[in-house]
Amino acid sequence: MPVRVALVVEFLNTVDIDEDVDLLSNYAEYRQWAGERGLRATKRVVARQLRDAIRDLLAGGAAQLPHVELTVGIDPGGVPHVEGDDVATRVLSALLALVERGEWPRMKLCPNPVCLEAFYDRSKNRSRTWCDMAGCGSAAKARAYRQRRRPR
Ligand SMILES: [Zn+2]
Repeated sequence: MPVRVALVVEFLNTVDIDEDVDLLSNYAEYRQWAGERGLRATKRVVARQLRDAIRDLLAGGAAQLPHVELTVGIDPGGVPHVEGDDVATRVLSALLALVERGEWPRMKLCPNPVCLEAFYDRSKNRSRTWCDMAGCGSAAKARAYRQRRRPR
């Protein structure tokens, strides 16, 4: 089963710091968001805790994940998998799959304080820092350049 990387990224970006939008602050919007992805909406509070905990984790903070019960099934080929079609289960299942494959360090938050967008670093050596080089990357470069040029 392919890892739903996009789901994790989209889930983490249900909050937009810059626009001050949080899709999980409202049940109707959250349900619609889940429905568009073919998922059942788990408890909104849990989804929010989960999202914020993963974001904290990516920001290097000490995060505590909310308690989520996972059911493990065995497919016809004898391979175990996490069952369930709700948001928390699918996000956690994708997260665990990434960890297992050693790909979790590719999940990152843009360090631009007014952006903080989650993204998946597909670069060969995992060297990507910014969500996009043209926007946040060049803004940071320009800042660093101005700071270097500042007279002492
Ligand atoms: Zn950014």
